[in-house]
Amino acid sequence: MLIVVGSRLMLGAGPRGTALRMIGAYLGLVLFADTVYSYQSVNDIFQAGNVLDAFWMTSGFVFAAAVLHPSAPTLVTRSNAATPDATTGRLIILAIGAMTAPTSILIQEALGQTPDTIAAAIVCNLLFLLVLVRMTGLVRAQRLAAITDGLTGLRSRRYFEESLGNESARAERYHLPLSMLLLDIDHFKNVNDTYGHNGGDRVLVEVTHRLRELVRPGDVVARYGGEEFAVLLPATGPEQAREIAERIRRGVGAAPIAVSDSRLVRVTVSVGVAGMPAVATTAELVLTADRALYAAKNAGRNRVTSAADSYPGAA
Ligand code: GH3
Ligand code: MG
Ligand code: MG
Repeated sequence: MLIVVGSRLMLGAGPRGTALRMIGAYLGLVLFADTVYSYQSVNDIFQAGNVLDAFWMTSGFVFAAAVLHPSAPTLVTRSNAATPDATTGRLIILAIGAMTAPTSILIQEALGQTPDTIAAAIVCNLLFLLVLVRMTGLVRAQRLAAITDGLTGLRSRRYFEESLGNESARAERYHLPLSMLLLDIDHFKNVNDTYGHNGGDRVLVEVTHRLRELVRPGDVVARYGGEEFAVLLPATGPEQAREIAERIRRGVGAAPIAVSDSRLVRVTVSVGVAGMPAVATTAELVLTADRALYAAKNAGRNRVTSAADSYPGAA
């Protein structure tokens, strides 16, 4: 159990502080001393008080030092580093692990011995399950990465377009309205030019944070482009969509954002609103929201424009 948990900690992602390294050293020392002890006991050559005591004692000191080390509290903080992918090294270890039991049967057969079929079969099944679980996890992680924006953690444009298809079908089936907002940060280039790309990134992350607080559960928020965001509002009619857009516009611009430890910047957004069934298709919905956004920009920015304002006839 200790070896399994220790290996998991040592091989996992995230920072390896001094305390963790010491615990690794402790496990290594104990494992070595215990293995030699077992060998000596089985062969009746163990003598109490031999050099193994030095290993056990050292391991105890190392463990105590790990617990007392200033980095020890970080052992329990969860790392946000992603689990390493299926690297070549990991795949090789997995392949060797999976082949060990069947290979041992083959070797025992070849040597004319009776193979330990039951032990090998149990190990094979366990490993097979382990590989399946691991692969399922990897596939899930890949799927999530494909629909998630790396900087903001928002859903990607691809995911938004998928949701748009699903939600419009649902809206049609149940005769519900469906609205979308397209937001673009005003004069974002100035933020980048003045505070650098990192400053710009911090603004994007904070705007995301505010957006998430301002929408309802069930609404889909996506990073649509560089500094453009899209919000899908299921079962939401034009007036309500406009209200939400206005709430978002005010909410995003309400307080300045820290672009560095000492500097704040206030940003505003322009929002285009469009809705179904006023427009018939999802492609038209996006196009109409984009036109409305363009109209909001032209009208002076920091405002909400609906399809109706930019496009008489389409409500
Ligand atoms: P407007 O009010 O017309 O929208 O003006 P704008 O300056 O925002 O104009 P524009 O849309 O052309 O500028 C977008 C800028 O966003 C350009 C690009 O360098 C920047 N940008 C795009 N993606 C990122 C990003 O991930 N991080 C940062 N820091 N900047 C980005
Ligand atoms: Mg912009
Ligand atoms: Mg833009």
